[in-house]
Amino acid sequence: MLEIKDLRAEIGGKEILKGINLTINPGEIHAVMGPNGAGKSTLSYVLSGREGYEVTGGSVTYMGEDLLALSPDERACHGIFLAFQYPVEIPGVPSATFLKTALNAQRKFRGEEELDAMEFLKLVREKTAELGIKDDMLKRAVNVGFSGGEKKRNEVLQMALLEPKLMLLDETDSGLDIDALKVAADGVNRLRSPERSALVITHYQRLLDYIVPDFVHVLADGKIVKSGDKSLALELEEKGYAAISAA
Ligand code: ADP
Ligand code: MG
Ligand code: MG
Repeated sequence: MLEIKDLRAEIGGKEILKGINLTINPGEIHAVMGPNGAGKSTLSYVLSGREGYEVTGGSVTYMGEDLLALSPDERACHGIFLAFQYPVEIPGVPSATFLKTALNAQRKFRGEEELDAMEFLKLVREKTAELGIKDDMLKRAVNVGFSGGEKKRNEVLQMALLEPKLMLLDETDSGLDIDALKVAADGVNRLRSPERSALVITHYQRLLDYIVPDFVHVLADGKIVKSGDKSLALELEEKGYAAISAA
């Protein structure tokens, strides 16, 4: 599904990713943990194609294609979903309009018929009911004045509608209360399937109590310094990053 080989990237001339190697097979959930400033967010931004991040070496292959050659929109339409650490606010655009536009852009890209307002509403109501999300936020401007938990619910709803093949979650747990954390985890767990994969980036172990990963990697100073199974996350919490990175 995703093969990252010796990936190097810089921001403003400073090298942040210093040779990342990571392979994610269909159905697998990988967690990337690491200290602040390690390059975790940079990795997720490079994978999503955000501006300002220059790839200086290596390759990323996604479902047999050169991911780095695709625009951010194309990546999204190909089934990559990035849940941000800090979701953007879009004043004046109701959440429902935003979600419908995103879904129809993807459907159009795939040669599928676009949904009209009624069809969209029916689908979105199915999803909110499944996820236990109140649909009153659909009328409100995207993320404007939303609490951390509401932003997360909105994002989980977007993910449920778009049904991505690869979910990238960047510190989706920071600043969330336990209920919002469970909503986020539930959103990912519901989409878990043999065809879908996820890369879950987190500083803390607690998210991984809810989204149980198949593999855990430690990122430190732009490199993966250790990989293991879910027990590595517990070891990290117990011993701290410094001990693991040095070992
Ligand atoms: P993490 O998510 O692991 O905390 P980041 O990927 O956010 O780490 O940051 C990695 C490094 O890149 C840090 O040293 C940070 O200061 C630096 N960095 C991040 N964004 C920028 C930027 N826009 N310009 C310059 N340096 C940046
Ligand atoms: Mg950080
Ligand atoms: Mg970060």
